[in-house]
Amino acid sequence: MKFGTKAIHGGLSHDAATGAIMTPIYQTSTYAQSEPGAHKGYEYSRTQNPTRHALEKNLASIENGKHGLCFGSGLAAIDAVIKLLNPGDEVISTSDLYGGTYRIYTQIFEKYGIKFHFTDMSNFDNLDHLANENTKLIWVETPTNPMLNIIDIEAAAAFAKKHNCLLGVDNTFASPYLQNPLDMGADIVMHSATKYLGGHSDVVMGALILNNDGLAEQLYFIQNSSGAVCGPMDSFLVLRGIKTLHLRMQRHCENGKKVAEFLQAHPVVDKVYWPGFSDHPNHYVAKKQMRDFGGMMSFTTVDDNFEKAKRFVSNVKVFVLAESLGGVESLCGHPASMTHAAIPKEEREKTGVKDSLVRLSVGVENIDDLLDDLAQALEV
Ligand SMILES: *Cc1c(COP(=O)(O)O)cnc(C)c1O
Repeated sequence: MKFGTKAIHGGLSHDAATGAIMTPIYQTSTYAQSEPGAHKGYEYSRTQNPTRHALEKNLASIENGKHGLCFGSGLAAIDAVIKLLNPGDEVISTSDLYGGTYRIYTQIFEKYGIKFHFTDMSNFDNLDHLANENTKLIWVETPTNPMLNIIDIEAAAAFAKKHNCLLGVDNTFASPYLQNPLDMGADIVMHSATKYLGGHSDVVMGALILNNDGLAEQLYFIQNSSGAVCGPMDSFLVLRGIKTLHLRMQRHCENGKKVAEFLQAHPVVDKVYWPGFSDHPNHYVAKKQMRDFGGMMSFTTVDDNFEKAKRFVSNVKVFVLAESLGGVESLCGHPASMTHAAIPKEEREKTGVKDSLVRLSVGVENIDDLLDDLAQALEV
């Protein structure tokens, strides 16, 4: 099956009880048993729920994986991955990282004795010194947030294999439409389904997809034991969102290209970070591992002008100043004061998150209206 067909049908079947085409919202916490232990595969909704189960199978299908697990948020999914580790274990992670991931690593898990190394992963040849026998996980975000760096997933998988540890890839920015890390050797794919998978800015959810049965068993145990599951209504919303993922992503990519080119040519804009440009430092890796370049990008204003950047995000009329990304509507954000405020200024600027940096999530509106809006907001 090709992607568009899997998005609509993958892992799904008509409701056995009624023939309903759409997966029903099984809004129930528990299930009748005919005698103790005799049930239809469902006992209690933290452990398993038919709507969540349908979504988990659908997600596995579109990521070319065997197992899917859904959580109450993207961070709850990351939380479950780190709970695979023990005190004394070490993680090597990209330094250009979603702020909330950095926060859970450094402010929650470090105090349980897990050690995190943050590094530039543009070249794995220089990273051997960070790995030792305690290294258990390599964590990669690509494209990275908000600098749109691209990390070579196959090179990351080779590095993880060499050091005998797992590779986890946060695939939120690309979505399964643009890249499938399991096919490139990743062990675990993570999504904030809040973003492109849900696609309509109406739900918060996270997901893990993987192939290894033993690892899936451990993660199911953590999902059920820690209990950060998502509800049936939210599962329904994400299932519905995924049915148009391929259509939305096509438009996100088309609009993204036009917006990136427009910004690049604008006199008030200094640098545009978008992996589709041939002079992007990792453009060749993006071309190798992604099917297109997506609708996420960042730019700085000339002279690193904080005021200009602030005026821009305050003056947009079609774009909305808001956290998050990946919905049908175009959003803009100011990472230094919003999504990345949890990262100290010094750390932030090392990775390029300057005060004048603006991040765009280009939506699927009419492109002329988007370009007009950017033009007027940059004038001010
Ligand atoms: C939003 C986001 C997360 C966290 O997901 P939540 O659903 O907000 O918990 C993790 N990684 C990336 C890249 C994100 O954009």
